[in-house]
Amino acid sequence: MAEQEASGLQVLLSTLQSSCDKDVILNILGVLTDLLSLGTGRRIQYVISKGGSEALLQALTIAAQAKPPDHSTLLPLLRLLARVGQRDRKFGLKVQKSEATDIILSLARRNLGHHLHLIHCLWVLRVCASNVTTGATLGINGAMELLFKVISPYSKRHVRTVRAAIEALAALLKSKSNSRRAVHKGYLDELLRLYQDWHRNDLSNNYIYIRRGLLLCLKHITNIQLGRETFLGSRGMEILFTSVQDCLPCKNLDPIITTAIQILRKCYPKESLPLRSVTSSYGFPLPGNAKAEPLYEGSESDESDGEEDVEKYLENEDVENKYEDYDLETDVNRLRSQPGPDRPEEELGQYEAMCPELSQKFQVLEFESEEEKRLENRTESVPSIPSNFIPSAASVEQSNCKWRNQSGTEMGPDPGKKNFKVSPQCWMKEEKCRWDQSDEKRDSEEAAQDADSCEEEHPAGSHALALRPLPTDAAWYKKMFYPECEASGSSNPGERLESSDLVTKLLEKHQGDIPFHSPRFYMARARSVKSIPSYKDLAFPEFWGHQPPPHSKPLLERKHGVQRDKVLDDIRRLIQPGDVIGRTVFDLDEPSPPSPGVPGCLTFFSQFESGNLRKAIQVREFEYDLIMNADVNSNQHHQWFYFEVRGMKLAVSYRFNIINCEKFNSQFNYGMQPVLYSVKEALQGRPRWLRAGHDICYYKNHYRCRAATGGGMRGKFYYTLTFSIKFPHKDDVCYLAYHYPYTYSTMMSHLDLLEQNRNPKKVYWRQQTLCQTLGGNGCPVLTITAMPESKTGEDLEQFCNRPYVFLMARVHPGESNASWVMKGTLEFLVSSDPIAELLRKCFIFKIIPMLNPDGVINGNQRCSLSGDDLNRQWLTPNSQLHPTIYHAKGLLYYLRSLGRAPLVFCDYHGHSQKKNVFLYGCSVKETLWQAGCMVDTAVISEDVGYRTLPKILDKVAPAFVMNSCSFLVEKSRESTARVVVWKEMGVLRSYTMESTYCSCSHGLYKGVQLGTQELEEMGHKFCLALLILHLKSLPCSQKVMAQAALLLDLEEEITDRAQRRCSSSSLETDDEPPCVEEIDYNADSCSDGEEDFSELDQEIQECLSWVEEEREDEGATMGQTCSSKALRGIYISGQPAPSSAALPLHSTALGVYSGFESSPV
Ligand SMILES: [Zn+2]
Repeated sequence: MAEQEASGLQVLLSTLQSSCDKDVILNILGVLTDLLSLGTGRRIQYVISKGGSEALLQALTIAAQAKPPDHSTLLPLLRLLARVGQRDRKFGLKVQKSEATDIILSLARRNLGHHLHLIHCLWVLRVCASNVTTGATLGINGAMELLFKVISPYSKRHVRTVRAAIEALAALLKSKSNSRRAVHKGYLDELLRLYQDWHRNDLSNNYIYIRRGLLLCLKHITNIQLGRETFLGSRGMEILFTSVQDCLPCKNLDPIITTAIQILRKCYPKESLPLRSVTSSYGFPLPGNAKAEPLYEGSESDESDGEEDVEKYLENEDVENKYEDYDLETDVNRLRSQPGPDRPEEELGQYEAMCPELSQKFQVLEFESEEEKRLENRTESVPSIPSNFIPSAASVEQSNCKWRNQSGTEMGPDPGKKNFKVSPQCWMKEEKCRWDQSDEKRDSEEAAQDADSCEEEHPAGSHALALRPLPTDAAWYKKMFYPECEASGSSNPGERLESSDLVTKLLEKHQGDIPFHSPRFYMARARSVKSIPSYKDLAFPEFWGHQPPPHSKPLLERKHGVQRDKVLDDIRRLIQPGDVIGRTVFDLDEPSPPSPGVPGCLTFFSQFESGNLRKAIQVREFEYDLIMNADVNSNQHHQWFYFEVRGMKLAVSYRFNIINCEKFNSQFNYGMQPVLYSVKEALQGRPRWLRAGHDICYYKNHYRCRAATGGGMRGKFYYTLTFSIKFPHKDDVCYLAYHYPYTYSTMMSHLDLLEQNRNPKKVYWRQQTLCQTLGGNGCPVLTITAMPESKTGEDLEQFCNRPYVFLMARVHPGESNASWVMKGTLEFLVSSDPIAELLRKCFIFKIIPMLNPDGVINGNQRCSLSGDDLNRQWLTPNSQLHPTIYHAKGLLYYLRSLGRAPLVFCDYHGHSQKKNVFLYGCSVKETLWQAGCMVDTAVISEDVGYRTLPKILDKVAPAFVMNSCSFLVEKSRESTARVVVWKEMGVLRSYTMESTYCSCSHGLYKGVQLGTQELEEMGHKFCLALLILHLKSLPCSQKVMAQAALLLDLEEEITDRAQRRCSSSSLETDDEPPCVEEIDYNADSCSDGEEDFSELDQEIQECLSWVEEEREDEGATMGQTCSSKALRGIYISGQPAPSSAALPLHSTALGVYSGFESSPV
């Protein structure tokens, strides 16, 4: 607005405060009324910024002193105050300063019998009360008592006034002291009675606002513990629950239903999870002196006022954020500083063994391919051996030898490790190992002996692991495996099959058509896995394999009110407990369940790789509460789930509630479904994980973590993920998971198959063991590149000098999507695709496909066995506690010490809150900008090369979205791989790649749930992008360029992509929109419309129009509003504002309300 206008407004306001001339005041009020009745809230904000609230309050003080009170001035003043005040954040303070609370209260008292006046006072009272301090003052001065004189049981008279009073009361009750006072005075019971009365009598739903207003009062009172207790004692739960049942069929009663359910959820008595302790069922003694953080569990009495906890929680959250933000993001020097290495230089020598490509002499190139052939012959023969459920002992051990000799031995054993199986001789020998034939042979022999000694240690040996039994009693099973018995009507198909016979029979049926999967290899690998509970069972899906379905599944459409239906069903357990069973049917902590094999009850199981169900409780006939195990040595991190379920009926919808989730929101609220694998389907030729389930939602529940547990404030609350499933078959064995599982054994057998299937003449492949994990599992590291073209010096030099690309995945075990992306990368890298061939000639790939094997094996979500988030240990990893991180960093240090730090570093992750695939990178400039720092571009010159790869990915990978990327270096991420590799190793292109579990916000996959195929494609496109990056960023030989030009029809890719872009018009929204239904019922920001200005505005406006109609009916002073419009014209056009004396209007001009004293509302 122009200066002149500003001064015009200021003149008006100062005149309003100082003038005693009634006409002048009326005119100004008229002008302001007209001015603010048009346009948006921005105009009101402008008036506020010019001191509008103060001026109006001052005018009120003066007007209220007039004897007798002049309502022609007071009413427009009060209306203006209500409209301006509700938008003025400091209104409460201003009201108190001008001591207007008493004035408003006494005005209201005096007008108790006059409803039009009273309603004006109530509006202002409500606006004043929305400031908690002012509200408390009003409460002390008797505002609530006053309001209860106005609020009446059901009546059709004066409903507007009653509504205004109830809404003012609701505002007052936001103050805890008012709520306390209200409970003590018995107002809570009174409110419940009033609510019941209005609910019963308002049969045609004419007074929804009154009913909801009463609920808002109850909602605020029950924010205090005393309120909740009284509410429970007064049968509030039953009253509201019953009333909601009446309201459910009527859609326009949603505001009532929503508010009532919020109160019900809040007042539902809080409980601890039905566990003896939330600490993980699995513990692991840490090596050396390291101690796990003591897991303190407070007593029940620490459970205090839930709502106050919320406030504390929010405050703490703030503090935490402030703390995290305080320096790194704003400090150029800290951002740019490169810390010294965390270990002595001498230590790096050990990593030389992990870079065999750098000292490879290839004297034995020919041998190499022969050797390969031999290996291939050996392993190829394995799957074809009939009647062996797994490769025979010898061949397994041989195949073990094969990897054992390559792995496990290059690194020295950790001194403190007890499970380390490799003999010191092995280690010594490997020091000088240079892949020569005699060594190879000796390795095999020693490793075989080694394996033998394993056998001695575990006499059960090869029998320790068996496939989960199949439902031999099920009709479909008999039909499938014993058709002859079926025909003869025999009910007993003979003895139960031994596990090995079962597998033999099964393998006869396996079609072997799943690429890069072999059940035999999987079993062989799974047998050598070391898990904390010493798994004895193999889950069927990983054994049998997964084949992506032919079509991807669209996002699940959310049904209206799905969450409230679920929540009401939860509350019904308390109010109508008749059908509640409450029987524990599975319990990891009590291996023999109290009531095994109850007929008609599902059977659960989870003690297999990556499984993590801890407890299952049958709540009602077809409903189960499920509790996930915490990460090992921890009492938190519940998100991932994977379990087996059997014994289902046909055509029944089973409801599952996972009741100890922790994240504050989930993609399950935005159309994502969990995945289901049916054994019967698999045996019928459809072996696949499918998105499944309906009525899915995610919301905060009534379970609380006992005080001080949960490793921080986040552990305070739990959320429920609920979904319902109709299983495809009766008596099936099914598996349910958060996302497509990908276990450690899956990865290991995948590597076996990749190695076998590669072309050894073209693909240089080395699988070594980076180190042993705490749990005693090997963490493989791969080297993949192209074999040198020839043994000429030039080619060998090119071979050695290829730049490095360093890739890792699965540091967070729950992020199985990252493994599927990595699977896509690996398969592409070793493939015979010409682009892959070229790419191998351009780079040496160092890949750690699973950085946290123990976490994956034991069903963790986030941590390793030490209970640490390994992606927060990169600054100073501990060699004992975080071996994989320590050695991954060591290997990177080693490469850097050779001047060979990778060109690209990327750590594959999964993101549970966001859609799309995107990168996090590191930029000093962008970090400073984001932190609001002035950046002198002359001081900071930054290579923007970090942007190239994401830009390419945006073009070539359909799931990838550039706009979702971020390049900030947050303090909270200071110890992640990405930031440390960027800072300490000086890698410009250091990234975390986040893949959604759900879907994409635009592009080809918008609206569909990503499957393994799309994830694998992402991994493959990542490789393509690396090649393009190479061509763009590095000097290339003519030959490479020519080859690339032939291969990469980039133009086409880009056009293709552009076309897809066109089809999606939506703008990028980084975060999800607010949920349709409130996940969290505690926060006062609940969308119940209380803070919605438009509602009160509308009331005021309606009152005006009603008044105006009346006036016109009376035929009085027509056209005078035009005068005020004319004045507004002057005001807005910016002409000099007339002085107060010269205001060209006389008293009646805007005194449109005079004479209404006698008009009842
Ligand atoms: Zn992650």
